[in-house]
Amino acid sequence: MDIHIENCNSGNIGNKGRLARWGVNIETTCALCQQGTETIQHSFFECEMTGTIWQQLLHWQGIQRKKLKWQEELAWIQRAAKGRSGGATLCRMTLAAVVYYIWQERNNTIFKQKIRTSASIVRMIIQEIHIRATMFPRLERTITKENWHLDTMEQ
Ligand SMILES: [Zn+2]
Repeated sequence: MDIHIENCNSGNIGNKGRLARWGVNIETTCALCQQGTETIQHSFFECEMTGTIWQQLLHWQGIQRKKLKWQEELAWIQRAAKGRSGGATLCRMTLAAVVYYIWQERNNTIFKQKIRTSASIVRMIIQEIHIRATMFPRLERTITKENWHLDTMEQ
């Protein structure tokens, strides 16, 4: 599996960074956590918001450990996501969903001023994976084994 975000460690993402390079003075603070500078490195490796979401999704996958630093986490994912087992498929799908939802959330926050909680993003990701799992019988079996109750999550 290729994880391309590993290869773009630096550089601003999106329009804000580009405008800033042209001398247009626009904040490049991360829209998700309002703390770090918004770079690829920050959004996918350091951001509190991404970290919280990933931690909850690890637990959802039945992986009971604290999240690692992102570089270590990516190395772990590359091992865990190999193969055709239900668990490996779930891991790949979860990672893809996190990257997609974080990007979408970042855009929503900037352009629509809509802010969602990490819990509601986790809930959306899990719901989407449940829907997708119906197309992959092996994955569906893995997911039904997961001891996760959507209803108990706070909004
Ligand atoms: Zn951030």
